[in-house]
Amino acid sequence: MVQEVETMDFDVIIVGAGPAGLSAAIHLKQLAIQHQQDYKICVLEKGAQVGAHILSGAVLNPSVLQQLLPTEWELAPLQIPVKKDKFYLLTSKHALRLPTPKPMKNDGNYIISLGELCQFLAEKAESLGVEIYPGFAASRVIYNKAGHVLGVATGDVGINKLGKKTDNFQPGMHLHAKQTLFAEGCRGFLSSQIIQRFQLRVGKSPQTYGLGIKEMWTVDSTWYEPGLVEHTVGWPLDNRTYGGSFIYHLPNNKVSIGLVVGLDYSNPYLDPFEEMQHLKTHPKIKKLLTGGERIAYGAKALVEGGWQSLPKLSFPGGMLIGDAAGFLNVPQIKGIHPAMQSGIFAANACFNYLKKHQTKGQEILSYDKIVRKSWLVKDLYKVRNIRPGFQFGLFTGLGLAAWETYITRGYSPWTLKNKADHLSLTLAKYCNPIDYPKPDGKLTFDKLSSVFLTNTYHEENQPPHLTLKDPSLAINVNYLQYASPETRYCPAQVYEIIQSNSGPRLQINAQNCIHCKTCDIKDPKQNIFWTSPEGGGGPNYIGM
Ligand SMILES: Cc1cc2nc3c(=O)[nH]c(=O)nc-3n(C[C@H](O)[C@H](O)[C@H](O)COP(=O)(O)OP(=O)(O)OC[C@H]3O[C@@H](n4cnc5c(N)ncnc54)[C@H](O)[C@@H]3O)c2cc1C
Ligand code: SF4
Repeated sequence: MVQEVETMDFDVIIVGAGPAGLSAAIHLKQLAIQHQQDYKICVLEKGAQVGAHILSGAVLNPSVLQQLLPTEWELAPLQIPVKKDKFYLLTSKHALRLPTPKPMKNDGNYIISLGELCQFLAEKAESLGVEIYPGFAASRVIYNKAGHVLGVATGDVGINKLGKKTDNFQPGMHLHAKQTLFAEGCRGFLSSQIIQRFQLRVGKSPQTYGLGIKEMWTVDSTWYEPGLVEHTVGWPLDNRTYGGSFIYHLPNNKVSIGLVVGLDYSNPYLDPFEEMQHLKTHPKIKKLLTGGERIAYGAKALVEGGWQSLPKLSFPGGMLIGDAAGFLNVPQIKGIHPAMQSGIFAANACFNYLKKHQTKGQEILSYDKIVRKSWLVKDLYKVRNIRPGFQFGLFTGLGLAAWETYITRGYSPWTLKNKADHLSLTLAKYCNPIDYPKPDGKLTFDKLSSVFLTNTYHEENQPPHLTLKDPSLAINVNYLQYASPETRYCPAQVYEIIQSNSGPRLQINAQNCIHCKTCDIKDPKQNIFWTSPEGGGGPNYIGM
């Protein structure tokens, strides 16, 4: 018997309830209400609740929030205004204070939890009449006969490991709309398919990424200073590996601490999670955290490609917004307000289209044009050479960053190119294994006890959401040539090499996955395929 598929019709579907998707939803409803229109807008979110899969630093530049909610922005959970910025170069024993680079100054900004801000924005959107469906992952793009985007399908629920229906089976729904906005964040798996299908990155550099590992602590230390924003470069990363740490002092003795590692690193023995644990043993950081308690952990990839990697933003039937397109400004470490701004621009473009047209699957070209003329792209252009300059090492990178910021002010007559991160690993035989210190359970921890803090849950009896396109490569290439880098870069210990009489084999503990997307990005042969598990599965971050 053929199963009937339930179809729902909307004016606009938004995939992802992050700052980009929620800002688009709010602004489109605001415009509709202002012009006495009643648009049906729906937001799908794969996390069990809004904010469950949100992880950021986060220092917020509030300018776009003020633009979105001019009279209500102060009601948002903006935990504390930034009072001071400090920037350090770390060596293993010392912290050398340097002048804070101009782009990293945070006057007028706030330290926040992005998860909490998203919950606030979701409430606002719902009060305006937006329909938000947490626990529903968009699992497939629906195309019409002409190959234009017609909407998305949510995944079936209640399919077992073998692909058979269980008693809990509920078929996914088909959601159709005049426009579908992809706001999936960094390395969205449907957005990646859209970029490929419509060749949106032709003539651009590949997108590049970093992995951010973050912990929240409550501290009881004289070094705690609410409102202080600290950034470091250097140790524990070697001079050829891009990255740096952030330490944000929130109210109520809370500190958010994290390490971002550029995923263009070359040594397959590097383990970003262990680098983060090592970072905390630095005397400067140890004295802040000692006596405190780690209360949360998480990890997520972030986009670093900037201007060179920005794809075309529209395609027949939809648009890319936020990190799904890649608006994060790396030198400023700011992606939230650019994501929100792109959502607002997309909402304007949708509104102007919907006023006059009812056809599904059309391309709204004005969005891309508006964004490229706006501060969003102009700012990205000015800093375009800073991140790729670090491919020449930390000190050359810092020198080039100073040249671009203070001398040419972004108008150097050249543009450095980006290279895909999965191409940057060196064969293991040419690299030195890294001996990381053992965790002490007080300041430093292992991966499994860390994953425990993410409240991650996946229904175990479901088809694996992490698959290998060619299973033989796991041993023939990854193990034999690169010493299985996935067992190190995955911050949730999903990948393990099991030795048995018949030789080594890769075990994938998919239920631990915290949806950081690193394996999808960094696997040297692009052999790991990440899809969305059953909606609601994954981490359940609170206040990250
Ligand atoms: C460690 C770290 C520190 C950072 N620090 C800062 C900072 O201090 N300041 C700053 O401005 N920026 C910072 N950023 C960047 C900033 O967080 C991002 O640029 C911003 O969150 C992008 O917003 P977004 O809405 O595009 O995507 P996201 O915030 O990633 O939201 C995407 C949402 O879509 C959902 N989703 C994805 N796929 C699907 C699907 N198929 N179906 C349904 N739902 C889906 C996800 O679950 C998620 O909720 C940081 C990022 C990281 C990782
Ligand atoms: S399996 Fe992949 S996406 Fe999941 S936590 Fe590990 S690296 Fe991240």
